[in-house]
Amino acid sequence: MQITFSMSGINRRQFIGCGTAFLCHALPAHAWFFEKESNGRAGTMDIRGRVFKKDAPATLWKWSREADHYKKATSDKVVCGLCPHRCILSPGDRGVCRSRVNLNGTLYSLTYGDPCAIHVDPVEKKPLFHFYPRSTAFSLAATGCNLRCLNCQNWEISQAKPHEVRHQELFPHQAVASARNAGCDSIAYTYSEPVTFFEYMVDTARLAREKGLKNLWISAGYINRKPLLELCRVIDGANVNLKSFSDEIYRKLNGARLRPVLNTFKILHEQGVHFEMTNLVVPGYTDNAEMVKKMCRWIIDHLGPDHPLHFTRFFPRYKLDRLPPTPVATLTKFREIAMKEGIRYVYVGNVPDHEGSHTFCHNCGRLLIKRRGYHISIYNLSGNRCKFCQTIIPGIWKDNA
Ligand code: SF4
Repeated sequence: MQITFSMSGINRRQFIGCGTAFLCHALPAHAWFFEKESNGRAGTMDIRGRVFKKDAPATLWKWSREADHYKKATSDKVVCGLCPHRCILSPGDRGVCRSRVNLNGTLYSLTYGDPCAIHVDPVEKKPLFHFYPRSTAFSLAATGCNLRCLNCQNWEISQAKPHEVRHQELFPHQAVASARNAGCDSIAYTYSEPVTFFEYMVDTARLAREKGLKNLWISAGYINRKPLLELCRVIDGANVNLKSFSDEIYRKLNGARLRPVLNTFKILHEQGVHFEMTNLVVPGYTDNAEMVKKMCRWIIDHLGPDHPLHFTRFFPRYKLDRLPPTPVATLTKFREIAMKEGIRYVYVGNVPDHEGSHTFCHNCGRLLIKRRGYHISIYNLSGNRCKFCQTIIPGIWKDNA
């Protein structure tokens, strides 16, 4: 359903500018946006993606590899078991994530060794605040995503098919060599959704481990248990989005379901993987204080107080380019709620000079790490302990950061 701007005497830009209050306060729930962005599932307003029928390339290319975690449903139909979508693909079909196809009864990943984004980033950018501060992560992404977030920051690569985006060949051994040459401590699988390039990620991570590098998984966490357990064996740290604490919002804003993401957090916790959580606060969608309180209670009950939580500021983007940025006061309030519920390390992201950029010891309250953007100006840990009261601070720390 298309919305047209037909207000007389006012252009679209003026409408956006003067409409902030309307957007934030007067809209009946989120109906306006949900309807506009719905993929046409009449009545459900559910934006979960669909299989692309008869959309696979006719032949394989150099970066195709038989996929892991799938089963044959019939002699030529396959069921992908990698993520909760569990796509059923007939020959020639492409999965919801756009990067896996059924060719003649075999499921292939199309992005093995073929990343579309390669950067060296500070680890703080992921964001990971309790993992090797001041280190750099060799960051890789291939095209594709199994979600459909209306606010996607990287939609140009996440919502694209492999052949639609420029790539650079980089097989696992080359990625590891490049990371070492760049002086990075880790390789981060990031930007798009690494679940969709699972085989490439796992093979690279195994090799990286052998060469003394750490592996970081930056993800929406929409993955099934079995592949996640396999992944847990090769990753050292993760930042996983907890996009909201509502299944309805997950379906309407992200094209996914809440329960599998919560299961991902439980599995990471059980497996002893260091992880941090990111909650992007989208005005009109995920800025409900009661929901945030419930989310924090669930975190305390199921994951304990030690996993850092980042509330990050939304800026207008992709299909939500008409929304205002998150008010800083909302982020401050959510940080207070989370700390009151017992989460020890709660951060505010995308807001320079906010108190929530820094790390304070959960025992003595003294400043441990002072950050401005990705830069650290004060560092008061000694190994994994607070320099002042010797309390162990949760995370993976370097002796000499
Ligand atoms: S990983 Fe891709 S093909 Fe597999 S179930 Fe998920 S969306 Fe479908």
